[in-house]
Amino acid sequence: MSLPKRYLMTPGPTPVPADVLLTMARPIIHHRTAEFEATVAEAVRGLQYIFNTKNDVLMLASSGTGAMESAIVNCFSAGDKVIIARNGKFGDREKSIAKAYGLEVIDLCYEWNQVVSVSDVADALAANPDARGVIVTQSETSTGVLNPIKEIAACVRDLSDTVMIVDSITGIGAMECETDDWGLDVVMTGSQKGLMLPPGLAAVSVSEKAWRAAERSTLPKFYFDWKKYRKSLEKDTTPFTPALTLIQGLSEALKLMQEEGRENIIARHNLLAKATREGVEAIGLQLFAPPEGRGSAVTPVWSPEGIPAGKIVKIMKEDYGVTITNGQDDYKDRIFRIGHLGYFGPFDIITALTALEMALTRLGYNFEQGASIKAAESVFLNAH
Ligand SMILES: *Cc1c(COP(=O)(O)O)cnc(C)c1O
Repeated sequence: MSLPKRYLMTPGPTPVPADVLLTMARPIIHHRTAEFEATVAEAVRGLQYIFNTKNDVLMLASSGTGAMESAIVNCFSAGDKVIIARNGKFGDREKSIAKAYGLEVIDLCYEWNQVVSVSDVADALAANPDARGVIVTQSETSTGVLNPIKEIAACVRDLSDTVMIVDSITGIGAMECETDDWGLDVVMTGSQKGLMLPPGLAAVSVSEKAWRAAERSTLPKFYFDWKKYRKSLEKDTTPFTPALTLIQGLSEALKLMQEEGRENIIARHNLLAKATREGVEAIGLQLFAPPEGRGSAVTPVWSPEGIPAGKIVKIMKEDYGVTITNGQDDYKDRIFRIGHLGYFGPFDIITALTALEMALTRLGYNFEQGASIKAAESVFLNAH
């Protein structure tokens, strides 16, 4: 079956609302103009709203990984000690970047279905008073695990020379992330996640403490030198040619997000995640993330015994036009992940569950057909 209608249900890239697509379809303007500077100013205000911060929020023309690398090169010097707590693919990447720049990594490594322990971080800080940073992923997109950022940040807050760096790339725009209230020094996100844009733009917030770290930092940097971006932001512009179409789209997307409101966005993601979880559990499937740390951006699910996740993903995509994704690294064929991050509503979940049921039926999995839809429908009905 070749279907003309497709459904993108991955935790990045995510679907883009029509208003944002239309904004980005306008003819290209020049970036050194008052018109574009007004758009930059609006986008930065919107980012501050969604990050819950008064800190500077810098926009980089890169994917999310560029923001991660920028945090390392701007906050540290070669040989600096950093504590990295990792429980998935993106935590692993933080470690690789830190290593690439010659940092000494205090490695707190967990199983992929475990939550980072706050007391482990506190112990590591006590044992390493010279640690210059703590780096944690809020929402591990590879596993759906949500780490306790607020509690971890509380251990770092009073240490004047230690920065708290948070990869909130699938947290921002979906889950609670109180940058200022929780004392987060560096928070980053990428455009193709909760911001509901195409890939290619990253945003990073920088606290006063992180700016002091940047003053000390001696690692080489040029394109990602935060100071250049701060200086340009004083004039509502960027040091290099910006991803200007994406910034125009961002300002539109942030308008939509401000209209909906932070609390409502978080509540919507919680509801979508709950419906997805109860749906898959109703047909006898097991959730991957543990109950004490489940995020609402993506729902990873164990593939049934004897059915490789890749087969489910393939049938859903090729025969029904629904793109979900399988696991990463060791979990490639053992889990599949249903994304519900950004521009998603109840009927997207119903669509994903229906396609999942159809694929599972074809693969010989035994369950009561329609049970996942019924469970999800009840969650949505009970919300009113
Ligand atoms: C997507 C993502 C990244 C960055 O990936 P890019 O492909 O570089 O955009 C980093 N961390 C997390 C948690 C992510 O979900």
